[in-house]
Amino acid sequence: MAMIFSFRKTVPPQLVIGRLDQTLQELRIAQPVLRHVFRHRQLIPWSSEAGGQLFGTIDAEKICVVEVAGPYTGDERSRYRYRSNPDAAQRAIDERSRRGLLYLGEWHTHAEDHPNASGLDDDAMLRLITSSNLNSNGLLMMIVGRASGLAGLAIWSISSTRAHRWELSQNKSGY
Ligand SMILES: [Zn+2]
Repeated sequence: MAMIFSFRKTVPPQLVIGRLDQTLQELRIAQPVLRHVFRHRQLIPWSSEAGGQLFGTIDAEKICVVEVAGPYTGDERSRYRYRSNPDAAQRAIDERSRRGLLYLGEWHTHAEDHPNASGLDDDAMLRLITSSNLNSNGLLMMIVGRASGLAGLAIWSISSTRAHRWELSQNKSGY
């Protein structure tokens, strides 16, 4: 019982809200998304990075991340690297698109407590942005570290010119 309880405590218990100085839009990460990504945290010495794609909706007031996909069979995974199997990722994007959900960006784990974006991460996101025909002006990049709760979560909005890190908090009012 104690084990189960302590595991649950490591997941942010509520919807996570993000804010950026430069924008009035609010970022909302639904709890099923948080549960999924936190399940893949690299808590043991031999665990590899995991990752995948984020999906949801965008309107004038908010960006809502409501679904997550990955990791997939055939991904490139090591302790310090993750790259989605491109075919599997595209299938996930197409399937969500048919249900009206937008591709919003990428997530992956890091073997560090408090996640920071590496130069490799920035390069990978820039390549994605320049190679895809996105209507929005950027993509989300979520990195999941080992620390519990919000301390282990970092999210950036990446555009071709800059990266902004969202300031995260928890909201108890739900969706
Ligand atoms: Zn990384």
